[in-house]
Amino acid sequence: MRRQDKADRIGRMLDELYPNPPVPLDHSSPYTLLVAVALSAQTTDKKVNEVTPGLFAVADTPDKMVQLEPSEILELIREIGLAPTKARNLRTMAEQIIDAGGEVIDDWEFLESLAGVGHKTASVVMSQAFGHPAFPVDTHIHRLGARWGLSRGTSVEHTERDLKAVFPRETWNRRHLQIIFFGREYCPARHHDLTTCPICSWAATKTRIRQEMS
Ligand code: SF4
Repeated sequence: MRRQDKADRIGRMLDELYPNPPVPLDHSSPYTLLVAVALSAQTTDKKVNEVTPGLFAVADTPDKMVQLEPSEILELIREIGLAPTKARNLRTMAEQIIDAGGEVIDDWEFLESLAGVGHKTASVVMSQAFGHPAFPVDTHIHRLGARWGLSRGTSVEHTERDLKAVFPRETWNRRHLQIIFFGREYCPARHHDLTTCPICSWAATKTRIRQEMS
């Protein structure tokens, strides 16, 4: 089956399963979404959503965040993975935003210049806060892109390019969320039987199926 035909069929299945996928991280503004995404690296969205209400009660704007010492931010996000680094980054990021005018704006260069913000975090904000077409690829999407035979998956950058090529631009913003939800619901990280799955049974290559079952 051609890669494009697979993508079309997978896209139809995902649209049926998750017609309106919600944004998983709780937020009330582009800034609070940016902070939540920055906190989510190597941490579950559930844990981030447990911690952010307390953080945002104290600091839901860069002006308020900059009033806090990194040690005070750390106290508020202590339960999150890599908390000391993230606390320092949140403080620096707030200073950078204030220096640039005080607002989180929809500009790739600006977002990617912020402390602790890489291309994936910037993509989430561009997509979920501003509605610009973007395709944030995390490890789950990266793995599924390869399992489904939509990308050779040598790097997340490569996977992003391949997925953008097979899914229509107007679907990117919901498609990346749908793949995350599907992965969370159905796909274990480790080896298992792909032949019993509604997608991998026909989308994965025989070689891939053998590899995953060994
Ligand atoms: S076979 Fe496994 S990895 Fe592939 S889509 Fe199904 S559940 Fe996910």
